[in-house]
Amino acid sequence: MNVASSMLLSPNDPALRSWVESANDASGDFPLQNLPLGVVEDGPAVRIGERVLCLRDALDADLFVKKLASNDEFLMALDVGWLNGIAELDPLAQSMMRENIAAMLVHGSPVRTKVERLLRDANDCEPTAPFVVGDYTDFYASLSHATNVGSMFRPTNPLLPNWKHVPIGYHGRASSIVASGAPIRRPKGQTVASDDGPPTFGPSKLMDYELEVGFFVGRANELGDTIPVADAWNRIFGFVLVNDWSARDIQKWEYQPLGPFLAKNFATTVSPWVVLRQALEPFRVPGPPRSAEDPQVLSYLADPLGTNVDITLEVLIASRDMRDKGTAPTLVSRGSFRDMFWTPAQMLAHHASNGCNMEVGDLLASGTVSGPTKESRGCLLERTWRGTEPITLGDGTERKFLADGDEVIMRGFCEREGHPRIGFGECRGVIMPASA
Ligand code: MN
Repeated sequence: MNVASSMLLSPNDPALRSWVESANDASGDFPLQNLPLGVVEDGPAVRIGERVLCLRDALDADLFVKKLASNDEFLMALDVGWLNGIAELDPLAQSMMRENIAAMLVHGSPVRTKVERLLRDANDCEPTAPFVVGDYTDFYASLSHATNVGSMFRPTNPLLPNWKHVPIGYHGRASSIVASGAPIRRPKGQTVASDDGPPTFGPSKLMDYELEVGFFVGRANELGDTIPVADAWNRIFGFVLVNDWSARDIQKWEYQPLGPFLAKNFATTVSPWVVLRQALEPFRVPGPPRSAEDPQVLSYLADPLGTNVDITLEVLIASRDMRDKGTAPTLVSRGSFRDMFWTPAQMLAHHASNGCNMEVGDLLASGTVSGPTKESRGCLLERTWRGTEPITLGDGTERKFLADGDEVIMRGFCEREGHPRIGFGECRGVIMPASA
């Protein structure tokens, strides 16, 4: 069958091109092979190059195959302002939707003229948070991050004895998850001048970001049931960039004995375009090999697929002055998600291993992604080594931690010889002064 005349087309073939010119840009994030989903003002949408197609518009123009257009759940999923309904569709309908969209956008598509009329400019679309998140959990899965932070707070005992046995996490707060671009107000809280207090209450002086990768759960398990690790990858809907904003001075005073609380739950930013796990298949890699001294992983956590993903991750900072003057943001770090000690499948399987029910749209984040080198440290606490090694921005000013007006920009992309680059776009947020 001629691909161009079919209504369905599997988009992972690296040779495919789109008639949307900007999708074929080798340094772009959104080729035909990506097709990430997000939410614009008229509901669920797909991103292609620098353009956006609202799925409701495509339905109204009769561009979906009959099997989808007559599926009540699909119709309902397109009428809401988030992706939960699409994630709840059965897997066959979901892949049919992806293949149907690919067929609309592939070079030579017979419906090009019809689709072209519907495309919007991505710059005109206001990104919103893609899911209604019922629960949010943040892990601590990078060995370099856990070792670095541990050595600052507990020099004699950086890595606790449980760390290589059990994926450590804490329950975050879903209500304060915000879309890329939402301003972040500097939090107030209790901080101390010396380790034993007494505390004072006021604006955090040690504002930080944490560069993380998050994923949304696409298939639920019943309360009391578990998720086998071999099945976990296929229950992930898709991935986003996550900024787990952190107030280090508040964290230091409150974190023992129960872990992070107000130092983190004032805001978490997610990138708007959810890159589906199908688009990341070509970039899936096993977790890093365990060394001879490392404990053997318990069998319920042995990830047979190897579900780390080779995502290059960058953090850039632009001060208000730099933005006003049009100075390019300063690259602060570059690392890779492939270095994570615990994989996404291990995090999800572990979370459900006690019978905890995971729901569609739950967000699980990886914890700060740090690698072994200085340049790959994913938060300022590590990057400036608790403020002892400040970094210099493009306007000549120094940073130990974030100043009011600073914009933090996170980028992520997958690159491999012979395959178009699959990108995540950006996750942005500007620090606003604390409330009066
Ligand atoms: Mn975190």
